[in-house]
Amino acid sequence: MQTNLAPEYRDTREGREADAILRSCVHCGFCNATCPTYQLLGDELDGPRGRIYLMKQVLEGEPVSAKTQLHLDRCLTCRNCETTCPSGVQYVRLLDIGRRLVEMKVGRAPAEAAQRWTLRRALLSKGMFGGALTVGRLVKGLLPRELGERIPSGESSGAWPAPRHARKALIMEGCVQPALKPNIDAAAARVLDRIGISAVRVPGAGCCGALSHHLVAEDEARAIVRRNIDAWWPLVHRGVEAIVVTATGCGVMVKDYGHFLAYDAAYAAKAKKISELARDPIEIVTAEWKKIAPRIAMDQGPQRIAFHSPCTLQHGLRIRGQVEEILLAIGHSLLPVADTHLCCGSAGTYSVLQPAIANQLKESKLKALTASRPDVIATANIGCLTHLQSGTEVAVKHWIEILDTRMFEAPRSP
Ligand code: SF4
Ligand code: SF4
Repeated sequence: MQTNLAPEYRDTREGREADAILRSCVHCGFCNATCPTYQLLGDELDGPRGRIYLMKQVLEGEPVSAKTQLHLDRCLTCRNCETTCPSGVQYVRLLDIGRRLVEMKVGRAPAEAAQRWTLRRALLSKGMFGGALTVGRLVKGLLPRELGERIPSGESSGAWPAPRHARKALIMEGCVQPALKPNIDAAAARVLDRIGISAVRVPGAGCCGALSHHLVAEDEARAIVRRNIDAWWPLVHRGVEAIVVTATGCGVMVKDYGHFLAYDAAYAAKAKKISELARDPIEIVTAEWKKIAPRIAMDQGPQRIAFHSPCTLQHGLRIRGQVEEILLAIGHSLLPVADTHLCCGSAGTYSVLQPAIANQLKESKLKALTASRPDVIATANIGCLTHLQSGTEVAVKHWIEILDTRMFEAPRSP
């Protein structure tokens, strides 16, 4: 695609990056075929090709309006278009730049700005979020059904193993997951412990930064990323072999720390090292499978599982098929699910900011997931898990919890 960037962007780092991405797009439109918002809304400007065109206009200095912003806001950042694109267009990198420039030009209406600020404050403060969740659970029955469905029940996390191994991995806890589903990280810690890796948590770290980044609060996102690096660095220095991130949405962000702080002289090298250490648990489970296999209880009978692969797993981390293989290998039945490539509508804060589209996507996804009447729905990201659970009676679990319940402490003789 030919471009002619406005002088204000032509010689900037972001301008050059955006220009290279725009030029890699050949405008073929293949990406529209797999874009959930284009499929739902049927508007070219609500598909990747149209959004790329809108961002080209912004970068070329054309007038920008709230309408431009709306079409960019409606993007789920699911990256389905990146998987489909034959030219390797880095759409989400361009979107990050485009959204920031549009925000600077157009701003936000006061009500929208207040909603976004409140979301950031509520979700970034573990104390505030945990307190609100506790109160919400107490009064759940009194709330309107729509709101009550969004509040998950409390659960016990089970034991977190005491450190006993020379091999150590750090588990990143994130912002909302410890309050919503504490068993996910505890299950990951137990699985790691049984294969000879002690999982440690670090006070002082928190949200991965994706929440602020996606709400275009860039300074806040950078401060959060630096805070996490500072909290983790002493353990990295002492040789932890991995930073395990059990929420794929956060995993994509942590694996991108190197790029995110590439021009921060004080943090660039550390951020790159953090990205290199970041692992989704499936990467470790797959690599250590020979140690796991003899500890699996294969006599418990299969559960019928429908797996929802989050966009952040299949399109963001580009890990496909591995969780499904593990679920089969531990003796479960995997049910067929239609349109596995499509987003469930959770997408971070998207389900709050764009509820109409998010709910349509959730309904379609749940229809596909429950078509074969599963015992349980498995997934890999806390956002998808709570979003889907709010619309179904079928239990939705992280796959590591399912693996945890099938694993013995010591190997069993064949
Ligand atoms: S992003 Fe890729 S698939 Fe979409 S129009 Fe551009 S080149 Fe074609
Ligand atoms: S990231 Fe997802 S919603 Fe956004 S344009 Fe690409 S496919 Fe469509």
